[in-house]
Amino acid sequence: MLLVKDMKDLAGKRVIVRVDFNVPQKGGVISDDNRIVAALPTIKELLAKKARVILMSHLGKVKHKEAPEVVEEQKKKNNMAPVAVRLGELLGIDVKFCPATRGDELKNAVASLKDGEVLLMQNTRYEKGEEKNDPELSKEWASLGDAFVMDAFGSAHRAHASTYGIPEILKAEGKQDAIGYLVEKEVVSLEKVVNVPADRHPYIAILGGFKVSDKIKVIDSLLKKCDKVIIGGAMAYTFLVALGRKVGNSPFEADQLDYAKRMYDTGKILLPVDSVVAQDFENPKNIHVVEGDIPEGFEGMDIGPKTREIYVKEIAKAKTVFWNGPMGVFEKDEFTAGTIAVCKACADLKDAFTVIGGGDSASAAKKLGFKEKFSHVSTGGGASLEMIENDGHLPGIDVIK
Ligand code: ADP
Ligand code: MG
Repeated sequence: MLLVKDMKDLAGKRVIVRVDFNVPQKGGVISDDNRIVAALPTIKELLAKKARVILMSHLGKVKHKEAPEVVEEQKKKNNMAPVAVRLGELLGIDVKFCPATRGDELKNAVASLKDGEVLLMQNTRYEKGEEKNDPELSKEWASLGDAFVMDAFGSAHRAHASTYGIPEILKAEGKQDAIGYLVEKEVVSLEKVVNVPADRHPYIAILGGFKVSDKIKVIDSLLKKCDKVIIGGAMAYTFLVALGRKVGNSPFEADQLDYAKRMYDTGKILLPVDSVVAQDFENPKNIHVVEGDIPEGFEGMDIGPKTREIYVKEIAKAKTVFWNGPMGVFEKDEFTAGTIAVCKACADLKDAFTVIGGGDSASAAKKLGFKEKFSHVSTGGGASLEMIENDGHLPGIDVIK
């Protein structure tokens, strides 16, 4: 696979870079510019090579099936223009912004770019054809570039016009398709939890979060790859109900019970033996620890102290760890202990490769002060799960290979 650092003869060439500028913002104010910062190494590399850099990204959602005035409202809400300003500040150069996503205005903006200049196009999702990988749209966008770089890991599991259509066409024309620094780091790191050699076992997965149904495919493939799968979070209650336990008012998915039972029967799954329970999810009261069945009127909010001890001991054996999904409702201080315990157990490992894949898990690790202790924190929650599910394959990366 071609890496951006190995791309040749780019002086004067138009290079389309698919970045992930899907930043949290409201009314043009960007509250977290991490994703823009993460794209800088690739952009700087291309500028050093005297390329003409054309950046494309989606921002938020534009639902083209809605009424025209709703679509207009969504477009206004997800306007990419403020990102160009912030990027300009970070790069210390003037970043041009093109409000058009097709047609002469876009063509002219690209044509007026000089070597070492940067142009950011408006939100790719302004185009209806983006998410459909529309061939006409892909053709028009591909015609703007002499080369392509994929640096949006968080979008690599989507075969859209900007992630798949463009590189497919450019490759067929014999032009350079490469991956950027951000994607390279993700691929190299995630490969270590996709194909794990014998000497990097025990391989332990820690799964939590809300729903079993969101994660069926990844549970399946992790059970094939891992020695143990530790389960916490709300999804644990679906497994416990499947084993005939009572879980009070805890959320569980009645349509996943057979699946949960089958997965449990692999013998690799560890489930909580106690829970921190509460009444009233919104304003939790009567918080206490329950072993065994949870009484009516209470719901499980976190794994309990005995479970923490068992899980910590198990994690301590690991040479490879993949973690997705908090152990409890970590957003509330009363229910962080389970997530802190698994974070700390990972942080204490001496010779292990530890990966977080999952948006909420990454923010939990950050909030609780453990983010820097992990070997890799993926920038793409959905993409990292799909990479494990598909044995290392993602459409937006395979198309470059
Ligand atoms: P990720 O984004 O890392 O993949 P998920 O989105 O699957 O994780 O799950 C995160 C959410 O799960 C958090 O908002 C957390 O509050 C919730 N959660 C965890 N445990 C429980 C629980 N026992 N009851 C209700 N919600 C829970
Ligand atoms: Mg989430």
